[in-house]
Parts: sequence; C-alpha cells; structure tokens
Amino acid sequence: MALAHKHDLLVDVHCDEIDDPESRFLEVLAAEALKLDYGSRVTASHTCAMGSYNDHYCSRLFRLLKKSGLRFLSMPTESLHLQGRFDGFPKRRGLTRVPELLDAGLKVAFGQDSIRDPWYPLGNGNLLRTLDVGLHACHMLGMGWIERSLELITDNGAAALDLKAYGIEEGLPARCVVLQGQSPYEVLLGQLPVMASVRDGRVLINRQG
Ligand SMILES: [Zn+2]
Repeated sequence: MALAHKHDLLVDVHCDEIDDPESRFLEVLAAEALKLDYGSRVTASHTCAMGSYNDHYCSRLFRLLKKSGLRFLSMPTESLHLQGRFDGFPKRRGLTRVPELLDAGLKVAFGQDSIRDPWYPLGNGNLLRTLDVGLHACHMLGMGWIERSLELITDNGAAALDLKAYGIEEGLPARCVVLQGQSPYEVLLGQLPVMASVRDGRVLINRQG
C-alpha cells in the first residue's frame, strides 16, 4: 500500500476469496486505505467471506468501509462456481454483499477474472451474462435494481479503475458499446449481442451494416 501510494498507482487486492467467516483481510485493507486516505485508488475484489460474516460484525465493518471509500469488484459466475462447493445443505452462494454495499453508497462492479480457465471454464467475457447472473445471485431482480443495474458493468468499473476521462461527453475518448433495448430491463430480458462497439473512435463492431 505504501509503495502504491508513493508512486500513485492503483491497488487491487483479491481479498477473502473464501467462505471462511474468520477471513477478515478486508478489514485490514480498508484500515490501511483509510490511513493513507487512498480508498478511491484501492479495489477489494471478491470479498466472498462477507457472504458468510455474521450481521453484527458486518454492521461494524460497514462503518469502516464507508469511511475508507474502497471500490468493490464481485465475480458472480466465478464465485457461484467456486464458493460453497464444500458445503452440504443449505449451500452458500459465496458472493459479497452487493446490494448492501451499494445501499451504503459504495461503488461495486461486476466483473470476470476467468476466461476459459480451470477456475471458471465458461468465462467468455460477456458482461451482460455476468450482470444477469449477478443480479439473480444477489436477489437484485426488483425493478429499482434492474433499472440502475448497468452501472455495475459500466460506471462502477470505471470507478474501480479511477478513470478520469470517462463518459459520453464532447472531448472525451469515443469508447462505448451500443446495447439493444429501450431500457436496462429490455437489454437484460433480450440478452442480444451488442449493436456496435467503438474504441477510441474506431468502430470495431457494427451490426447495423
Ligand atoms: Zn481473482
């Protein structure tokens, strides 16, 4: 952390990727980030153990998390596959507390850190699929969550990377994908391929012909 702070670099700790409720490295990470006032440059990835923490510990932990301003990344397909597999029944889902973190005003993004590898053989980089699975796994199928859900694979990912030149605005780099649907609900319902993909002004995909 000190080294990253000294050189103004981002930190991404794959933290507490386990169902063990005694795995509490996130608390240490948040305390270290707070000490350096560096939360906006630090991401806690996975934090699966939070899915197994008791609510009493979590309510204290959340006070620290809010003060630290850490970014969070959850890999829902990987965690559903890897966590809970040593459980009998009931089986834990092994995901961090996504809606609770969002409710606390923290930035959470969904991501994928396995592409066709042994940790998650079906990883194909399709973030709409990741979002779909994550919303199911986190009980986020209420309309309120669905309507704001795209922030989990756009704005909040940008926040984790602390991107300054980000957004749809004149003068910013032209980087976007065009999704098919009139609303986030339609986009999730349809699960259609992206209509267009633009990277730094270059059109990489254009299905409109
Ligand atoms: Zn990871």
